Amino acid sequence: MTKWIGIWALSIVFFWGSTAAWSLDLNLPKTAYQGDLIVGKTEPTAEVRVKGKRQIVGPQGYFVLPVPRDQKTDFLVTVTSETESLSYIIRILAYPWRTQKINGLSKKYVTPPPEQQKRVISDNHKVQNVRGDHPYPVPFFVRKGFIKPVNGTVTSPFGLNRVLNGKPKSFHSGIDIAAPLGHPVHCPADGIVRLVDSDMFLMGKTLMIDHGLGVTSIFIHLDAIAANTGDLIRQGDLIARVGKTGRATGPHLHWGVSAGRTPLDPQRLINREFK
Ligand SMILES: [Zn+2]
Repeated sequence: MTKWIGIWALSIVFFWGSTAAWSLDLNLPKTAYQGDLIVGKTEPTAEVRVKGKRQIVGPQGYFVLPVPRDQKTDFLVTVTSETESLSYIIRILAYPWRTQKINGLSKKYVTPPPEQQKRVISDNHKVQNVRGDHPYPVPFFVRKGFIKPVNGTVTSPFGLNRVLNGKPKSFHSGIDIAAPLGHPVHCPADGIVRLVDSDMFLMGKTLMIDHGLGVTSIFIHLDAIAANTGDLIRQGDLIARVGKTGRATGPHLHWGVSAGRTPLDPQRLINREFK
């Protein structure tokens, strides 16, 4: 296999940009940013691999490749059908992630006491199970893409290095949209409700929606949730109300998007065409 990758990678140098040279159908961008969601299309029966890891290919041939926020190298994608194999390089562009300092948070939320840490771990397990667990192969989000779930200003973008009460924490894995308490939250893209939890320690009232191919949304700090696990939700449906439950200094919506367990920048998805 390694030998084949080498040969096809060489071929790319000669056929770069002229996909018509191949009979195996493959549609991929030439570049993507750190934190981006790459959506590709090929033959539904083809096998797609990145770094040797096999990706789910949906019934219409769509597949997704999440670019981790700290991805340092380009992607080498190999697509294999019954008769052909080809490789494609996607150039990964760096993004200058900033640092944000937040002070005045209640100490129990920055360093939870031991009895609360158990809850934090169990909450995270529930969330990670949804992200890693049997994603729907149907690409619900492809037809209409994503809209902003709340009308408001993004006060905290994706990817910020966060320092809470002087302690460095993991980077901000979603976007914060400022909005008044009780403001409606609309579903950004079609999908199925996979998790409703009324009391997570850091995240408060939490809702997760599966948009297909392993792409999921999470909405946290909610005041109320207007959906049940298993519901089929359409883009624009009212799903929740903005709140400040869990670790939140004031009412806002934290919206996160992941592909598998890789967090992505939701702002790169809004109003983008995927078909
Ligand atoms: Zn947030």
